[in-house]
Amino acid sequence: MEEVKLTIDGMQVTAEKHMTVLEAALSNGIYIPNLCYHPDLEPVGICRLCMVEINGKRLDVACKTPVEHGMTIRTETPEVNKIRKIACELLLINHPAECVTCSANQKCELQKIAHYIGVDEERINRLRKHVKTLPVDTSNPYFIYDPNKCVLCGICIRTCDEIVGVNNFDFAYRGYDEVVSTFGNKLMIDSRCVSCGECVVRCPVSALNIKETLPPAREVKTICPYCGVGCGIILGVRGEKVVASRGDTDNPVNRGRLCVKGRFGFEFINHPDRLTTPLIKKNGTFEEATWDEALSLIAQKFTRYKGDAFAALSSAKCTNEENYVFQKFIRAVMQTNTVDHCARLCHAPTVAGLVQSLGSGAMTNSIGEIKNARCIFAIGTNTTSAHPVLAYEVKKAVRNGAKLIVANPREIDLCEFAHIFLQQTPGTDVALLMGMMRVIIEENVHDIDFITKRTQGFEDLERSLKDYPIDRVEALTGVPRDLIVEAAVTYATYKPGMLLYAMGITQHTHGTDNVLATSNIALLTGNVGKPSSGVNPLRGQNNVQGACDLGALPNVYPGYQRVNVPAIKNKFETAWKCSLPADVGLTHTEIFDAILDGKIKVLYEMGENPALSEANAGHAIKALQALDFFVVQDIFLTETAQYADVVLPGASFAEKDGTFTNTERRVQRVRKVIEPVGNCKPDWQIVCDIAKKMGNPGFEFTLPSEIMEEITSLTPSYGGISYERIDREGIQWPCPSDTHQGTPMLHTEFFATASGKGNFIPLTYKPSFELPDEDYPYILTTERSLYHFHTSTMTRKGGLEVLRDREFVEINPADAEKLGLKDGEMVKVVSRRGEVMAQTKVTDVSPKGVISMTFHFRESPTNMVTSDAVDPVAKIPETKVCAVRIEKC
Ligand code: SF4
Ligand code: SF4
Ligand code: SF4
Repeated sequence: MEEVKLTIDGMQVTAEKHMTVLEAALSNGIYIPNLCYHPDLEPVGICRLCMVEINGKRLDVACKTPVEHGMTIRTETPEVNKIRKIACELLLINHPAECVTCSANQKCELQKIAHYIGVDEERINRLRKHVKTLPVDTSNPYFIYDPNKCVLCGICIRTCDEIVGVNNFDFAYRGYDEVVSTFGNKLMIDSRCVSCGECVVRCPVSALNIKETLPPAREVKTICPYCGVGCGIILGVRGEKVVASRGDTDNPVNRGRLCVKGRFGFEFINHPDRLTTPLIKKNGTFEEATWDEALSLIAQKFTRYKGDAFAALSSAKCTNEENYVFQKFIRAVMQTNTVDHCARLCHAPTVAGLVQSLGSGAMTNSIGEIKNARCIFAIGTNTTSAHPVLAYEVKKAVRNGAKLIVANPREIDLCEFAHIFLQQTPGTDVALLMGMMRVIIEENVHDIDFITKRTQGFEDLERSLKDYPIDRVEALTGVPRDLIVEAAVTYATYKPGMLLYAMGITQHTHGTDNVLATSNIALLTGNVGKPSSGVNPLRGQNNVQGACDLGALPNVYPGYQRVNVPAIKNKFETAWKCSLPADVGLTHTEIFDAILDGKIKVLYEMGENPALSEANAGHAIKALQALDFFVVQDIFLTETAQYADVVLPGASFAEKDGTFTNTERRVQRVRKVIEPVGNCKPDWQIVCDIAKKMGNPGFEFTLPSEIMEEITSLTPSYGGISYERIDREGIQWPCPSDTHQGTPMLHTEFFATASGKGNFIPLTYKPSFELPDEDYPYILTTERSLYHFHTSTMTRKGGLEVLRDREFVEINPADAEKLGLKDGEMVKVVSRRGEVMAQTKVTDVSPKGVISMTFHFRESPTNMVTSDAVDPVAKIPETKVCAVRIEKC
């Protein structure tokens, strides 16, 4: 970093070359009053409070003046002080004077500045003609906007624009009437606001202010329990309750920024519905039991069903340590590899596909690299809803000049920022990507050097592309040919290009092919193994990456070591001092078939909710009812837990230590913030207690750190991880040794494949399993709401229900008109598997012929109608496409 030397108030200081005078002063411990400056935002210099004298010649605002070598700055001169005083007085005479009762008292920037400058109170009172009495907007459930207190610094406007990309605010009116207003002067709740609270935490006074704040007595750093972005949060505790959440500015993933879920969705932790004691079902009714009663019953039943009659579902919400202990118990004690988790329903094709093509089934690059990409290709990801803080980075890249290509059947929010929007028919991604690859080769913009040096199988791929002339691709996908060409050439030439995808790619009967198509196009353009490039699957749940890494899968032990390779099996048998089953187990989707076939009799399920989340949920529910014995371990009595014989109360993320691994492979510390509520226990402890009750050694762990030590001894990619090393900042695997710094970027020199080369895989477009016909003329696709998570077990009890409390059937206006439907009307959505009722939302976001629903609401269980046809390789069901009809209720 280049340094410059300058003098501030007679003192020689050093600053970095890119800094402004204000930043140079602040970084050297010299205070210059400032109100509209914020380190996260572009400076605007509108408050005039940071006025300084430069080189004895001119006055200027320090926040917009770049440092120069040899510069002389004076922060206190009669002229400077005069200007500052006037600027400060003008603010104060328009500002309410009730500092003592204001919630910002002692932390208000204006108060601090007034004190520093030393204003004349009598003069202020004389000048104060009338204080504004504008209505206070209390419509948002989490914060208020009081325009009377606003000092027009514009920080909220710039935050919402520059950081969040929502652009909800602007200045309205002029002169004395000037205010910050939402567009159309709407109430906050009716505006574009997505309730992230980013503007609120930056407001220097209390014009934007969190409602009902109880100042915490203490704070603990941990990780957000919702999506796979893995934002660092700091939870505030008062007594035994979590009362606040704020972003951790030291965390490199989010640098303090959060979305609505991470900032306001924590009420579930202390919710009165939490399970606090074990329950045993007797004569169809749950009765409270002691831990000893529940564990004895489980031990007795489990002992009778070891082997092929036993199945287990682990949890992407639980820690790495818990997933490790869980799969160890299932393999070592229950003698089966039939252990799986919800990755099967979201990113199983990622693991299957990327391992084949690149040698590793995880995000190749890091979240922090997004902002420097020159092109971002976001296909099958509704990033602003499902990975909101990561979407801030995508919008930042666009601000920095990147081209954004969005490919999605629905016109999602990100399209507003896109240079090219490809609206493909659901299920036609392989055709679209094959068409783009053919264009790239025809236009000669493929990366021949990269292909030659780093890949194999190019000729096979090239041959397979002959079946994808542009007119066929246009007909299959519905995307105009000129857009396909433009997108192809843009992605191939604006390098580095970062490809992002999520479940729009994976949740198909050809999900593995879709994933392979994304890696093919990245290899073709040389967009792998370089900064701000790569193939980047965005993982859904907070620890779905970790649950996969730690072996909650039927075919691999921790670290993706195959269960059916004798040498690896021997390694784990030696370490665990037991014999292990040799055969690959059943997958999530196969387990439910096997229960109904009478092969599996007992299911142990930790922190999942298949009664709502499983495709063709009616089938899954029948299976749950057919079990001989069913144990559920969870924090609430979920829809699935209702079918259990024994329910065990687990501790929430805030009540235990451990680690989560985020979507960019970063292993981060989760910390105990409060004691487990009631009589509940951390999941790892419950699993160990069951194992011990069954008389099995190998589960004598007393702390999660001891489990991590065992993990690192057996999992090469986690070999160098320890709680000490990740105490301040997480480490990205592979991290094979204590001295290794982790790997933010994969495949820089060679791929993790057998040959070390990236494999091109020729592909054939296959249509979705169930296409619309006369009886079921619409395609139903599924999506996520920003305000909810998975089956809403946590978000609806977490304080987010207030922002969205029901399911919608999103339908195009033309389709609504054809069916005679109005906005907000109840309809029945019927498929070959079942039906579900919900309210219509007539919107252009859904293209003609396609309706969309989430699966967040038990009152409208969308998965009663979705298709359980699976990808033959990854066994993921096709929840993104099924045929339905819509009936008026
Ligand atoms: S609401 Fe707060 S952040 Fe926004 S302009 Fe007013 S004082 Fe500044
Ligand atoms: S809460 Fe977020 S979205 Fe809403 S106005 Fe503030 S910054 Fe914008
Ligand atoms: S983006 Fe994801 S991890 Fe970050 S605060 Fe939101 S839900 Fe939590």
